[in-house]
Amino acid sequence: MTAYSAELIVDSSKIVSNISQLKSLMSDEAKFMFIVKSNAYGHGLKEIVQKIESNVDAFGVVRIEEAILVRSVTSKPILLMQGIYTDSEIHIAIENNLQVVVHSMNQFKLIGNNNELGLWIKINTGMNRLGLSYEELKVAYEKGIISSDSVLMTHMACANDPDDPMNKMQINNFEKAFNLVERKTKRSISNSACLVNFPELSFDWVRSGIAAYGGEFKNLNLRTAMTLRAPIISIRKIKKGERVGYGGRKKASKDMKIAIVYAGYADGIPQTTTDGTKVLVNDKLAEIFGRVSMDLVSIDITNLPKVSENDLVSFWSEELSINEFSNNNGLISYELMTRISKRVKVKVT
Ligand SMILES: *Cc1c(COP(=O)(O)O)cnc(C)c1O
Repeated sequence: MTAYSAELIVDSSKIVSNISQLKSLMSDEAKFMFIVKSNAYGHGLKEIVQKIESNVDAFGVVRIEEAILVRSVTSKPILLMQGIYTDSEIHIAIENNLQVVVHSMNQFKLIGNNNELGLWIKINTGMNRLGLSYEELKVAYEKGIISSDSVLMTHMACANDPDDPMNKMQINNFEKAFNLVERKTKRSISNSACLVNFPELSFDWVRSGIAAYGGEFKNLNLRTAMTLRAPIISIRKIKKGERVGYGGRKKASKDMKIAIVYAGYADGIPQTTTDGTKVLVNDKLAEIFGRVSMDLVSIDITNLPKVSENDLVSFWSEELSINEFSNNNGLISYELMTRISKRVKVKVT
């Protein structure tokens, strides 16, 4: 490390191995769309697309700028997952050979007869966020604006809980919608949670993000592909009864040794991180001790006599799954990945 900073080390070979594990759950006909919205869930969009390209069938993004960047490095299909909103976006989509989701009748109007765009028709099956109603799908189909090359898609709200009755309802509604259109229309329903819990629903396209990066799904042994780490810049001894950090939130129950780490909430470590959250120092576990500040985190190293300044502290990594951090703090791994800030130095290998 040259200049001192928090660092994000991304190992794309871990993503490749997660993807091959996920593909083994899919039916043979299904294709794998790798979701790289939000800067590849914080992993670095351009580098990740370049390194993962040969392992996937297509890429999914949300913002048009991301689609343009992805197109600059791959000729594989790219899906703009919330579609287009202006005429200029339509032109960019055509120029860059993007496929676009259509989730509302207004988007159909905007697209008009630009029929060179590949369309993914999104149906609202119960999540009530985006998507056409059954009646709107019917109108669109009868007007002939859904061709048989379109893909019919929906998004599951509760697939992470296989027992939630919403799953059955959404699956039934999706089937009902499919029965309205031509038999050869392709289908896509699965995100990561749906693939893991309902692999029989992989149909023509699986759209997976979080699991490929190693988030969520503790029982699958997926590998956390990113390591967020920063060096120790100070070590001090404190006496029993002394308090540490803003609000003096944590009080020493005995004489202790504390290390101060060069990263804080301005790097993306949540300000609400609780005392006792585990980190790794030289492959040994230590705990966060006191409130996270903008640029610093304090950790308890009382039982780690060999730790010294410049040693690196990892907040999460393959060895300390990002799901530990998120679960112990009432967060989701998606949020930890995507909140890493610009000042963190990113290295993708
Ligand atoms: C983000 C997204 C996905 C991927 O979800 P994961 O839970 O990360 O697998 C799939 N489909 C759509 C429409 C999305 O927006």
